[in-house]
Amino acid sequence: MEKYNTLLYYCYSTIADAEQFAADHLKFCKSLGLTGRIIVAEEGLNGTVSGTAEACKQYIDTVHADPRFAGIDFKVDEVDTPSFVKMHVRYKSEIVHSGLRNPEIIDPKSKTGKHLNPKEFMEMKDRDDVVVLDVRSNYEHNLGKFKNAITLDIENFRDFPAMINELAQYKDKKILTYCTGGIKCEKASALLLHEGFPEVYQLHGGIIKYGKEAGGKDFEGKCYVFDGRLSVDVNSVNPVVISKCFNCGTVTDKMINCANPECNEHFTQCDNCGEAMEGCCSDACKTHPRKRVYDGTGYYVKVPQPINTDKKGLKLQY
Ligand SMILES: [Zn+2]
Ligand SMILES: [Zn+2]
Repeated sequence: MEKYNTLLYYCYSTIADAEQFAADHLKFCKSLGLTGRIIVAEEGLNGTVSGTAEACKQYIDTVHADPRFAGIDFKVDEVDTPSFVKMHVRYKSEIVHSGLRNPEIIDPKSKTGKHLNPKEFMEMKDRDDVVVLDVRSNYEHNLGKFKNAITLDIENFRDFPAMINELAQYKDKKILTYCTGGIKCEKASALLLHEGFPEVYQLHGGIIKYGKEAGGKDFEGKCYVFDGRLSVDVNSVNPVVISKCFNCGTVTDKMINCANPECNEHFTQCDNCGEAMEGCCSDACKTHPRKRVYDGTGYYVKVPQPINTDKKGLKLQY
C-alpha cells in the first residue's frame, strides 16, 4: 500500500508579495498532487498538506531551498490516506487570526517568548515558580491538555488578548505557553511580553512535537488537529482520557463534528450516543432538514462556498 504523509508547519518570515506568492504556491502544490490548506500572509506561512511520501519530500526540499523558509521545522506524520480532499492556498492578513493587527506591537519576528524544546519544557513545567498556559480554545483543551495547565474560556484564538487581565495574577511566575504546533504561542507569548510579563517561554513545535520527541508525558487526553483525523494521540508514557461524552457523560475521547452543518459544533460523543443521535449534539440538530449522513467518523468534507470577492478572504480555488 502506498504511504502518505501529512505535514504541519508554520514560519514567521516576511513575504513581500504575499498574494502573488499564494497563487504561485497553489500551482506548485497542485503540480505535486498535494491536498491541504495553506495560509499566506505578509508575516509568513501556515500550512498543513498531505500527499505521497515522495511528493511531501519534494515539497519540503523545495520550500527549504527558499532562504526565507530555510529554517522551517516540518512535523511529519505517516497516514493511510491523505488527510484532505482539496488543495487550498489562501492569502490573509495574518497566518493565525489573533485580532492584533498592529505589527508594531506584536511581531514574533522581532520579539517573542523564549523557545523551549520538548525536553526543556518537560523539565521546567512542574517547578513551583512556573505556570503552564494553554492558549488554545475550549473545544481543543476540553479534549486534551497538559496536567495542571491553566486553560482559557475562549471559543477562538482572537479572544486571547481579552484574557490578559485574568492572567495578571501570574505576573510573578514564569509563564510557559503551549498550543498545537507552536504558531499561536509565537503571538501569545509576544503579547504577554508586551503586557509586562517578565519571563515568558513557549513550547517550540507545540504538543505535536512534544508527543514525538518527549513521548507526550503528562499530556492528558488527545490533541485536536485541524484535518480529517480530528484528533491524534500524544502521550505514550502515562496516557489518560479526560473528556466525557457531551450527551451521556461517559468517558470518551472520540471527537466529532455535529452532523447538522449549520451547527457543526466540535464535541466529544461516545459510539452509543453517536448511533442514537446520528452524530448530532442535540435533538434539534437531529431533526434538522440539512442533517448529514453520519458514517461513524463525524468528519465531513466542507461543502464549496460561493466565491468571496472580498480581497482579504479571497478564495483562490474551489
Ligand atoms: Zn454518550
Ligand atoms: Zn448540533
